[in-house]
Order: sequence, then C-alpha cells, then structure tokens
Amino acid sequence: MENTYFRRGFGLKTEIEGQLAADYHSTVVEALRANQFRLTVGPLTFRLAREFGFCYGVDRAVDYAYETRIKFPDRRLYLVGEIIHNPHVNQKLRDMGVRFLARGEDGEFDFSGIVANDAVILPAFGVTIGDFGRLREIGCVLVDTTCGSVLNVWKRVESYARDGFTAIIHGKHDHEETKATASQVMKYPQGRYLVVLDMDEARLVCDFIEHGGDPVALGARFARATSPGFDFQHDLLRVGIANQTTMLSGESLAIAEEIRRSIVRRYGDAAGDHFRSFDTICSATQERQDAVVALLEEPLDVMVVVGGYNSSNTCHLAALVQSRGVPVFHIEDADAVDTVTGAVRHQPIGSTQEATTDRWLGDARIIGITAGASTPNNKIGETVVRICRTAGVEVNVALA
Ligand code: SF4
Repeated sequence: MENTYFRRGFGLKTEIEGQLAADYHSTVVEALRANQFRLTVGPLTFRLAREFGFCYGVDRAVDYAYETRIKFPDRRLYLVGEIIHNPHVNQKLRDMGVRFLARGEDGEFDFSGIVANDAVILPAFGVTIGDFGRLREIGCVLVDTTCGSVLNVWKRVESYARDGFTAIIHGKHDHEETKATASQVMKYPQGRYLVVLDMDEARLVCDFIEHGGDPVALGARFARATSPGFDFQHDLLRVGIANQTTMLSGESLAIAEEIRRSIVRRYGDAAGDHFRSFDTICSATQERQDAVVALLEEPLDVMVVVGGYNSSNTCHLAALVQSRGVPVFHIEDADAVDTVTGAVRHQPIGSTQEATTDRWLGDARIIGITAGASTPNNKIGETVVRICRTAGVEVNVALA
C-alpha cells in the first residue's frame, strides 16, 4: 500500500537550497552576525539580538513545504491554514502554487474539495485531531511539519487527560497551535481542557479552585476556551499545566505557580494528587526572549521587532521590550518603514489595529532589532536598509 503520510522530509535539501537562499537570505544580516551583531551606517548603529528570526521548527516546516512541491510536482498541493505566521513566507508558497485552506465562518476547515490524489501540508503548529482524522480518511498525501516541540506539549496534555487531570493551557484559545494542543485531550473520554490567556484569567480560575463561585458566570467567560460540557465544579479538582510554546515564559511560569499555590491552599498535604505542571515554552522562544533581555542591558534609543501581527512569539518579543520601558515598533514587514515620509506602520502592543506614527525615528541613533521565529532574514535586512534610507544614509550596496 502506498505510503501517504510523511513527517521526515524527502531528502531533497540540495534541490531546494538555491531557492531558499534566493527567497530568504540576507547579506545585511550576515554582516551583522559577523560583526558581533552590530552594524554602523553613518550616524546609525544597529544592534541585533543574538537569537532572532527563523527557529528550528520553522526552518524545518519551510524546508518540507519546498521539498513537497518538488516531490509532487503534478499533484494539487494544499496547506491547512498558514505554514507559519509570516505573510512573506506564505506568499512565497502561494507563488509556488500552494493553495491555502482557511477556516470558514463556522470555524472549521472545508476539506470537501480535497481528493485522494492531492497532497496536503500540515503547518508547524499542527492541526487538531479532528482535522487530522478527516484528512486521513480522504487518503490524500499528508506532509506533516508539526514541530517536535509542539509534539512534546501534545504528549504532556495527553498524559494529563489519560490520568484524569484537566489540562490548563496558558495560551490563546483561537491560536492554531493551542487549538491543536487542546484537541489532544479529546483522545480520552475523560479528557478536559481550559485555556487561560493571562494572569487575570488564571486568577479567576484560582479563585474558583480555592473558594468556589458561580460556575455559570465562569462558564460564560471561558465559553470558547473550554472542552465541550466543561464542569467547573468537577473539572478543576485535578489540573495539569501546559502552555502554548510561544508565550512569554515568565508569565507562563508565574501562572503555573499561582495555580499551584491555590491548589496547596485548597488541598494542603494532598496537593500533589491534584496538581501537575510542565513548562512547555520551546527553547527557541526562550532563547529569543532571553536575547532581547540581554540586548536591552545596553542603552537603546528605539527597538524594532519584525514579524507577522498574528505571530504570537513576535508579539511577545515586542511586549517584552515595552515592559522594559524602551520605545518599540512592531512592524509586519520591511515596507512598513516609509523612507519618503519618515512614517512607520506598526501594531501597538496589545492592539489588533495597525497604526501609523510620523517621524518615528526622531533623533534615534542606536536602534535595536529582532524578529519573531517566523520572520525570514531578508525581511530583517530590508528593514535595516529602509531605516537607513529614512535617515538619509545608504547601507553599503555590497550588503544590500
Ligand atoms: S516557535 Fe518553537 S514550537 Fe514553534 S515552530 Fe518554532 S521551535 Fe517549534
């Protein structure tokens, strides 16, 4: 029987290398790297975080997508959602003929047009067990790029469900990774999940664990963030903590600790029977956050964070900068920097709307830069070039 499920690539690295370099390489970023992550151009000095941009999971997912196009040149090729949360990378895949499947108004993917002869790529953040099952039933080729670090979270919440613990997931309930992670508990009849976005939501849960309360009101608050039929009185008796891999690690740890303390106050010596926890922030996310903190140890005038507005890890890098009191602009792409008017389009921290700020560069001379795990190097390099042009200076053309 023909193998239709692939999750280890096709050994076509050599064939895709040239295209990947053409699509994502940056000589400016290489120059920064080679010069201790600094680059001075005229009056401006750029300092790049030491860990930035594509993580191992994204590298792998993008490689597999490119390899899939070569491996199955004659098949229709689909992608469930987005390969990663970066508009430039997704556009490159569209240009290669990859068709994107989006969620409909009912919140579900429509797989009705997919036939057994098609090939479907699953993104780095994975898909829900329901979507996976539906695609397997169709019998199409599946190229699964789910990151190993996401699979680790799945194993963790699955073990909670198997042992009768409700998975409390620190994440965004409508993020594809968290949807996929939460769905893993549904492999077990007793599987339950609850997604908390932040400490405020976690405290509501803590309060209920310790003191009880109105389960109907809490149910309404978490209506879209709980497994079907979630019973707050019964399903918070034993809880296990996990997190979306790209959350702010400090916040995730604080939430786990807050819930642990509530369990201890509620159950005393028996708390161990009611609580489990495992930090599932991935190492790439942690390293990028740590690198921003290290970058901010020396003075900066302004920081630019490059990455998709819907990229969780990019948003968290920007929030981390703001929390340290440094002016920060989260831009989606290099062309957000308008070299003619001196304005910048950006998404203010905590907002979902794009804003424009005039003369954003001002007298800034030392500019910090980093990028989320889904941002390719060429977008970082282009950003540096455009900032220089805004200031009336040019990066050495050999670098651009
Ligand atoms: S951010 Fe982490 S979990 Fe997500 S793809 Fe990258 S390495 Fe994997």
